[in-house]
Amino acid sequence: MSKPFITALSHSGGVQSHALLEMVVRGDIEKPFRFVVLNSDPGMEDSRTYELIRRAREMCRGAGIDYITAPGPNLYHDIVNSVSTGQRRIDNPPYWTAKIQGASKIPLPEMYEFIENLRSTSGIEPIIGKLKQKCTGLYKIAAMDRAMRAYMGQKYSVSDVTKRLRPGLVEKWIGFAADEWHRCSESDTKYIKLRYPLIELGYDKAKVIGYYIKNGINIGPRSVCASCFSNGLDFYSEMHANRPNDWSKAVEVDNAVEKWHLLGITEFPVFVSRSLIRLRDMPERGFGIDDPALENQHCNSGACFI
Ligand code: SF4
Repeated sequence: MSKPFITALSHSGGVQSHALLEMVVRGDIEKPFRFVVLNSDPGMEDSRTYELIRRAREMCRGAGIDYITAPGPNLYHDIVNSVSTGQRRIDNPPYWTAKIQGASKIPLPEMYEFIENLRSTSGIEPIIGKLKQKCTGLYKIAAMDRAMRAYMGQKYSVSDVTKRLRPGLVEKWIGFAADEWHRCSESDTKYIKLRYPLIELGYDKAKVIGYYIKNGINIGPRSVCASCFSNGLDFYSEMHANRPNDWSKAVEVDNAVEKWHLLGITEFPVFVSRSLIRLRDMPERGFGIDDPALENQHCNSGACFI
């Protein structure tokens, strides 16, 4: 395949994609000829990630690197306004669902209370299910790809019509570490070729952390939405204590998905947290202990640090 026209680093602000950016800026990885950093904003990232992105943008400006944040869409607004706008479809996160055998006659608005009562009186646990994951594709990957095409059009007069772009025109760098090789995949977009520089350099997760320590760089938080399906109770407890704006956004989202029966999800109630406890009720209950099953939740897109 011919050489890429441009190289784009997918920068979620997570530990590994940010390490890649630092390596380029510090000259530990040779900066490709045409190099740009891509980021997306689903509207409800961890506030610490927003701060890290702000600093990364400044760092790039100092190094003469363009840093683009895709202008939308906004997952947070779409979810919070989903019922009031009468939306019929949302590219939703894979939120959790609850089912109790034999309780199909309970109206959905009463189901949460029913589950709570059942849990406390008889210890019966609901069957946990999960919606399909659609958020990353629309709100992160497609948003960044669109911003990339607009950037190439403006800066290099490259057509922004996808089918006119030659295969491998864009090389996209993803920050998977060497011990995450199994998460790699081929690009499903012809004009984009994926590359995994940390794996090529033999950096596993521990070595990436070592890079931060050796260079005195602060290690950032996981790059996930405040109300991501993958967040555990510890995470929410810390958020509630230290980041009230993130916390209220997460609660708003959970309150919105509680009404998704009005959008047509009529078989089961939907929850942000795998604990099937509404976020608004968590502080009163002292948050509780994380379910180890959450550790097996991953996103292989390279755009969410899960
Ligand atoms: S961080 Fe979680 S909620 Fe946000 S886009 Fe990724 S998978 Fe979806």
